[in-house]
Amino acid sequence: MLDSALPIPRPADDVSVDVAVVGAGPAGALAAIVVADAGYSVALVAPERGHDPRTSALMMPAIRLLEDHGIWPEIAPETAPLVTMRIIDQTGYIPRAPEVAFDAHEIGPDPFGYNITNDTLNRALGARLDTLGITRIAAMVDAVDDAAGPVVTLAAGGRVVRAGLVVAADGADSFVRQAAGLAVRRWSYRQSAFVTTLRHERAHANASVEFHTPAGPFTLVPLPGNRSSLVWVSRPEEAARWAALDPGPLAREIERRSHAILGHMEIDGPRAVIPMEGHVAHKMGEGRIVLVGEAGHKFPPIGAQGLNLGFRDVGALGTLVRHARGAGGLAGIADTYAARRRADVALRTASVDVLNRSLLTSSFVPSTARAVALSAARSIPPLRRAMMRFGLGAM
Ligand SMILES: Cc1cc2nc3c(=O)[nH]c(=O)nc-3n(C[C@H](O)[C@H](O)[C@H](O)COP(=O)(O)OP(=O)(O)OC[C@H]3O[C@@H](n4cnc5c(N)ncnc54)[C@H](O)[C@@H]3O)c2cc1C
Repeated sequence: MLDSALPIPRPADDVSVDVAVVGAGPAGALAAIVVADAGYSVALVAPERGHDPRTSALMMPAIRLLEDHGIWPEIAPETAPLVTMRIIDQTGYIPRAPEVAFDAHEIGPDPFGYNITNDTLNRALGARLDTLGITRIAAMVDAVDDAAGPVVTLAAGGRVVRAGLVVAADGADSFVRQAAGLAVRRWSYRQSAFVTTLRHERAHANASVEFHTPAGPFTLVPLPGNRSSLVWVSRPEEAARWAALDPGPLAREIERRSHAILGHMEIDGPRAVIPMEGHVAHKMGEGRIVLVGEAGHKFPPIGAQGLNLGFRDVGALGTLVRHARGAGGLAGIADTYAARRRADVALRTASVDVLNRSLLTSSFVPSTARAVALSAARSIPPLRRAMMRFGLGAM
């Protein structure tokens, strides 16, 4: 398929590599590192990154991937472990779900994972990209031609990149996905996430707390020291109202909503409002193009699943490209990758969607189902452990 005009090639500007990765968010940057570590030549095509207001709770499988590729030691000092996850029902629906605390030590010696700002993660990934000497092209891809047999040709900022495999990691509105004709199913929620960072009086004891409200989850996630990130999902007009408050009244409102469990609070970072929407690709790859991260799937932050799923995409891609070295090369990888990622992506997308929607309705069936599930998790240890393993990403 030819998508808009490719520039007339100027040979000096041409780059030919085994794999081109488009997008330098956490999923794309890690994909470039993993593929380069497998011995392939890689070009990473993406504009310079700006500030990313999000933080990510990364579960242990994602942390191990960062360890395997030499990135974790750079990040570790700036993360906080997640040992306990409390869920508190404040929907006011009947029946009311009981409070449930999931403790990582019930399933092993490790914490569930670690919480980190996306800016810190991106900085460490950027440093590793530099160490590996990965070719960087700081421009947006604006044309994709995947019709020419064994190579895909990309145009970016007047330069041409030819690659045997293209990893589309260019985020939710992925240009490459659209150019390749990989369709998505889309939906939206009448919700926005208000995000900021807080400094507080009391220690968080490495516990995240998710208050389930009728407008969405209100979540405090530990950061190093007496700091936490706030992800407060509510109606878009409410989120805009919180964002417009002065720091003092905003901190008091957050303290009130969190029942002052962390004591006195102060706003300690920039704020952002992010609309909640979702999409999932019908196929995670085809021909010589694969989708990773939000290029392939997006859903609300409830349960901290999004980037963990994106890193599992990267892990699966890494396994395939490593095996391809001794086998038939990169041809055919995209279809195998799409088949391998189908179940995990579909299951996570559906479960997060169902959980999120169950908060938005007071109808008897979904609220009873949620209350029964949380009651069972609280009182049946094997079920609770199974839910914890599922949350970590084990299928
Ligand atoms: C409030 C909130 C809290 C969250 N918390 C968690 C959490 O706790 N745990 C978790 O696992 N997930 C969480 N997520 C999800 C997580 O933030 C995302 O899944 C993740 O950041 C997406 O990373 P990405 O690399 O796929 O995309 P992005 O970070 O969006 O990166 C895409 C990149 O592609 C580039 N790009 C775009 N178009 C082009 C183009 N045409 N050419 C070249 N480059 C291009 C962009 O410049 C950008 O750098 C949260 C999300 C939100 C909104």
